[in-house]
Amino acid sequence: MTIVPTFQTAVDPQKLEKLAETAVKVGLRLEPGQDLVITSPLAALPLVRLITKHAYKAGAGIVSTFYSDEDATLARYQYASDASFDKATGWLYEGMAKAYEQGAARLAIAGDNPMMLAGQDPAKVARANKANSMAYKPALEKIANFDINWNIISYPNPAWAKQVFPDLPEEMAVAKLADAIFAASRVDVADPITAWADHNASLNKRSTWLNDERFAALHFVGPGTDLTVGLADDHEWHGGASTAKNGITCNPNIPTEEVFTTPHALKVEGHVSSTKPLSHQGTLIDEIQVRFEGGRIVEARASKGEEVLNKVLDTDEGARRLGEVALVPHSSPISKSGILFYNTLFDENASCHIALGQCYSKCFLDGASLSQDEIKAKGGNSSLIHIDWMIGSDKVDIDGIKPDGARVPVMRKGEWAL
Ligand code: ZN
Ligand code: ZN
Repeated sequence: MTIVPTFQTAVDPQKLEKLAETAVKVGLRLEPGQDLVITSPLAALPLVRLITKHAYKAGAGIVSTFYSDEDATLARYQYASDASFDKATGWLYEGMAKAYEQGAARLAIAGDNPMMLAGQDPAKVARANKANSMAYKPALEKIANFDINWNIISYPNPAWAKQVFPDLPEEMAVAKLADAIFAASRVDVADPITAWADHNASLNKRSTWLNDERFAALHFVGPGTDLTVGLADDHEWHGGASTAKNGITCNPNIPTEEVFTTPHALKVEGHVSSTKPLSHQGTLIDEIQVRFEGGRIVEARASKGEEVLNKVLDTDEGARRLGEVALVPHSSPISKSGILFYNTLFDENASCHIALGQCYSKCFLDGASLSQDEIKAKGGNSSLIHIDWMIGSDKVDIDGIKPDGARVPVMRKGEWAL
């Protein structure tokens, strides 16, 4: 086999170059002398090479990439001993955590085959995920707490492209997914750096309005949904570029269309239905319906993938509570594309969403200085997981509820009301 994928020609080389440059200059804002840790599927090698080039041109210290490979992952499920599924590469994650402590930036390239583990034993998948989450925690905390500048972008892996466009031949599917990624990532324009500056300014305007309103709760009403999401005490809305604790202002997600904050882990009431399927580590979980009492999911159903959903909810105590609520207009470019990407980085930006599990400490006023106990006291949730799923559509209305009960329209039929 060859290391350089043969479908390379299907991906526009100039736009790929712009994506790499945007990842370094907008996504990371890599500083001269800063080291960079990249994780990537092997299929994204052409993009990794371009990012590495742009990182060194921007003055990077050392760029180190860790690759994953689908065949190698599947070989584990086929041949590894049962005990293997409770193991994880803790030594590698400890090294990554150490790199971040010493100032390295982090870039992840998404684009794995979303159905890679679909045929595997769900119990083994859950054990391997749990072992991995526990081992990864020291490194993940530095990312989730925004200690460092980090960024995630994606590359059109053929297996992913075939999932998104099953009726097209592989080369056409890759070309079409590549175009969708370039458009959503705003690199299909003459000057992506300026386009991102404009986009960041408009997201900033939304989050500033929400921060000024200081809502106590958001009330979502739509088909199968009547949900009140209490917001954490001293919550802060974020959107677009934001400043990491190391002082660097970066765009962690490319694409991004959301403004988001921290719900109160104990103050979510009512029921909610998903509006798009959730692709979770190889399983499609569709038509989710859950009911909350006192912030906790007490009933959960799904027309597909219910067993996996319930395993996820049983990960730990915080897995049944919310760690994020995010607002995205129905007219967002990703929503308008009409494409289901089977990838949270894209699909969450097509719709308002909530996330089960860990909250972001940066979504509190003065979040960087708060201890874990202080975050908990303000209503911040903690968990090994953070899983976003989509609850918005053109049929959902959202009101903001002030502490005195007054209501302010936030979204009507999926669009900003202000
Ligand atoms: Zn989100
Ligand atoms: Zn999220």
